[in-house]
Amino acid sequence: MSRAPMKKPANEQANELARRLTGETGGEVLFDDASRGRYATDASIYQITPVGVFVPRTERDVATAIDVARSVGTPVLARGGGSSQCGQTTGAALVIDTSKHLRRVLHIDTQAAVAEVEPGIVLDALNAQLKPHGLWFPVDVSTSAQATLGGMAGNNSCGSRSIAYGNMVHNVLGIDAWLADGSEASFGPVERLGERERGIAEMVRQLALAQRDEIEARWPKLLRRVGGYNLDIFQPQSERPYTSDGSVNLAHLLVGSEGTLAFTRRLTLKLAPLPRARVLGVVNFPTFRAAMDAAQHIVRLAPSAVELVDRTMIELSRANPAFRPTIESALVGAPDAILLVEFAGDDPAALQQRLRALVELMGDLRLPDSVVEMTADAPQKALWDVRKAGLNIMMSLKGDGKPVSFIEDCAVPLEHLAEYTAALTEVFRKHGSRGTWYAHASVGTLHVRPILDMRRDGATKMRAIAEEAAELVRKFKGAYSGEHGDGLCRGEWVQWQFGPRLNDAFRAIKRQLDPGNVLNPNRIVDTPNMDDARLFRFPPGYKTIALTPVFDWSPWNVQNDPATETTSPPGSGGDNTAGFAKAVEMCNNNGHCRKFDAGTMCPSFRVTRDEQHLTRGRANTLRLALSGQLGAQALTGDAVRDALDLCVGCKGCRRDCPTGVDMAKMKLEVLAQRRRVRGGSLAETLIARLPDYAHAASAVPWLMNLRDRVPGLAALSEKLLGLSSRRSLPRWRRDTFARLAPRLGLASRDETLNAAKSAVLFVDTFNGTFESGNAVAALRVLQAAGYAVHAAGANTADGQAALCCGRTYLAAGRAEEAKAKARQLIEALLPFAQRGIAIVGLEPSCLLTLRDEMLAMGLGADAALIAEHALLFEEFLVREVRAGRFTPRLKAATQPMRVHGHCHQKAFGAIQPVLEVLRLIPGADVSLIESSCCGMAGSFGYEASHHEISMQMAELSLLPAVRAAPDALIVADGTSCRHQIADGAGREAVHVARVLADHLLNRAS
Ligand SMILES: Cc1cc2nc3c(=O)[nH]c(=O)nc-3n(C[C@H](O)[C@H](O)[C@H](O)COP(=O)(O)OP(=O)(O)OC[C@H]3O[C@@H](n4cnc5c(N)ncnc54)[C@H](O)[C@@H]3O)c2cc1C
Ligand code: SF4
Ligand code: SF4
Repeated sequence: MSRAPMKKPANEQANELARRLTGETGGEVLFDDASRGRYATDASIYQITPVGVFVPRTERDVATAIDVARSVGTPVLARGGGSSQCGQTTGAALVIDTSKHLRRVLHIDTQAAVAEVEPGIVLDALNAQLKPHGLWFPVDVSTSAQATLGGMAGNNSCGSRSIAYGNMVHNVLGIDAWLADGSEASFGPVERLGERERGIAEMVRQLALAQRDEIEARWPKLLRRVGGYNLDIFQPQSERPYTSDGSVNLAHLLVGSEGTLAFTRRLTLKLAPLPRARVLGVVNFPTFRAAMDAAQHIVRLAPSAVELVDRTMIELSRANPAFRPTIESALVGAPDAILLVEFAGDDPAALQQRLRALVELMGDLRLPDSVVEMTADAPQKALWDVRKAGLNIMMSLKGDGKPVSFIEDCAVPLEHLAEYTAALTEVFRKHGSRGTWYAHASVGTLHVRPILDMRRDGATKMRAIAEEAAELVRKFKGAYSGEHGDGLCRGEWVQWQFGPRLNDAFRAIKRQLDPGNVLNPNRIVDTPNMDDARLFRFPPGYKTIALTPVFDWSPWNVQNDPATETTSPPGSGGDNTAGFAKAVEMCNNNGHCRKFDAGTMCPSFRVTRDEQHLTRGRANTLRLALSGQLGAQALTGDAVRDALDLCVGCKGCRRDCPTGVDMAKMKLEVLAQRRRVRGGSLAETLIARLPDYAHAASAVPWLMNLRDRVPGLAALSEKLLGLSSRRSLPRWRRDTFARLAPRLGLASRDETLNAAKSAVLFVDTFNGTFESGNAVAALRVLQAAGYAVHAAGANTADGQAALCCGRTYLAAGRAEEAKAKARQLIEALLPFAQRGIAIVGLEPSCLLTLRDEMLAMGLGADAALIAEHALLFEEFLVREVRAGRFTPRLKAATQPMRVHGHCHQKAFGAIQPVLEVLRLIPGADVSLIESSCCGMAGSFGYEASHHEISMQMAELSLLPAVRAAPDALIVADGTSCRHQIADGAGREAVHVARVLADHLLNRAS
């Protein structure tokens, strides 16, 4: 294996590189260990630490960086979203990340349906800009929210609808690029090339000419062939011509070259009209083989997609209550596999006819009544979502064995698909594993990942399976690399696929364009072995530093059986961190968290666009720290602190991350570990202990509120405690819920335990102290509906201490005190839970702590019983309304209502109940604000160091939406969300309990 030339000792070289990049460019120069570690991986099994990372601000920065790197002898590795599955973006090089700043659409020609873009723009962002023009870029990769156009071109990416639109190579019209010598070149139609580029074209033409026979004999004749270089541009072998008029386009040589031939500066893209309508026919098959056999016939109906969902995926989806109705609506009986057959176009009537043709075809194939027809958009979208989620569930397998992608996109001609999948299934069985099949049946590319344990015998099995799969690919005249590129896991198979002569021709192309081996060296040609364990993220012998965590991570401390996918009991996985490290390792780097859609994950990345402030970046930092790769004490050190600093604990990742990486809880663990070693600050103590002193402090509100009244005190609090002087603090008041309680008609403990209709109100410190009106409103609503309501421990009236979920202690790393609070709470609430009485809370972050963190404190079955009965106010009402126990009588609404969901409500799927109870109000016009985190997040937004970021998070979507609805009532259940809305938009937001209370007509039954 040849390596990139190292002209100087690595450190000296790296120092010089960093020094010059800092001096000569305006980009971000990231050469610290943690940053390099974060860029050492992609969505593959590999890890190679780069020399350094550079995030250019301008095109000129890139050009300078390439020159500087070349002159000091460091290779250059271009990177977009880093979502490659084969190790394309891992390398001992200067990694240049274009995704942060180089992401403009430069030009859209709507007439010609052409766009020019920078390489760092993400596909979804581009398509959002094209939509108003009725256009889209149709290479619809599953990672459309992460994949950059530069990366898509680099990999010759392919979408679900490639049967209709082709791959990247079919949709790129031109590429402007820097060559390895720093010069600029324009790659496009050969007849319009400049002199230098004409020379390159001529060289390729000559090579192709010399290898004419070999190309004819060896080249897979498939749409889905992405391995090697596109030497066939002069003699196209793809089922679909690279250009519509048969001309030759030199840009196609760069497509799929994985950053090894040139660094893309700009891309010119061919756009397509957005289809006005789509219909879906879901074909149910009694056997997997029948589905595979049918694909070749179905494609003759010219569908825009034919996607497979196999039995395992169907079952996984069925097991999930959220997906069960959708998947079951697509099933006829108990099929072994289904094919999602989509037709797209402008004329709905014509699409209906094609759907009928599908039904007829299935009848001819002796599968009458096997098609479920879906013509409306909503069910179609729901089913596509289920397909995606099924894969995510598969990826969330706990234990060291993981579904590994290395033969997941071999493509075979459709007539052999059934035989190929059957034979490969047999190969898996032989090696003690099995595969779950999904994806693009239309083009003979089915994704499948056997489960392998790379820390043990994974490498040996990987090679054995790869070799046997390769034999099958050869037998069926397929393409070994059919979608995800070559990178490290397929590099060595390029020569196998194309033979030594074509491989030499590829090497000649590389030498001609990059004689100094500057650009992503040793990829596509002269590659390392796929099973070189030195390149693995988890090589054999991988170790973590022993640790006693404060939380219970035992559900992750398991091993799995690759054949049955069952996991061993919690705690049996042999992890010396009791499962914490294994929970962190669940991040497989797929990059799904790099998204900007309606979900929550990840608010800090949405603002900074820094890998460091991304769930993936954080998980990688933790993994490196836990395994000693950042030094022995790194977990409690500054690199980890910095990576977690902007994590607002929103739990967006807990819900949205396909593998369930729960960074919010991981941060709490790290904070506790850090406090053990480093102690805490005065400000942390003040915030953590708020529940302890809130009652006493509220007796003297005039004193407590001085900070916001006396000039200079806010600035002093910023200096002494780090609290932002630009923020007002929550207003103290004497009329707390505890003081009001004796006059509120609360039921006693025994009355509540014995009443026919009862509930326990868990009044948290924030609502109880600062906004007691919310708790009173909730009480009024419940009492109006005839419930006996007890406010457990919310007061001093019955001598009990205020109950607290412990969240403020957790956020300060005071895990033991939080546990003490939790025990107190359990003791007080257990009798109610044992009688099946609901524990109703108002503040999402407090109440949901009972359903989340409290279950991970090792408090046993009692905590679980409390969690079972802990409901948000609106969840409780919805439950009761549905059970017919609560029929509210409410006045009609007088203004529209816009709801901002607290992040934890979203993470626990608890936002719909808010909308549902508001819709009980006659004439209510209720809608949800599509927002991520409000940016306040407990004490985060109050801290001076976070004020700016906090406001930026709010400005992403929440505050503009609030301002855009001047007449609406803004509803927000989170205390901090309400504060942020008041600070940022000058509007009062109200808790849902107050809205309902304000609309109460009179007592209801
Ligand atoms: C869960 C999952 C699903 C996926 N689904 C699909 C799918 O449906 N279809 C599909 O085709 N792929 C898929 N992929 C693979 C991957 O997402 C795509 O290949 C994607 O297009 C890569 O984009 P990126 O921005 O992440 O590129 P990167 O991974 O950052 O880079 C890809 C390659 O392009 C090169 N490159 C990047 N920028 C430049 C530049 N400016 N100049 C020159 N070279 C450059 C890099 O060096 C690298 O070799 C999937 C991956 C995952 C994890
Ligand atoms: S944190 Fe989750 S979503 Fe982000 S890369 Fe890791 S596994 Fe993917
Ligand atoms: S908890 Fe929120 S801020 Fe933290 S990593 Fe997850 S999504 Fe990002």
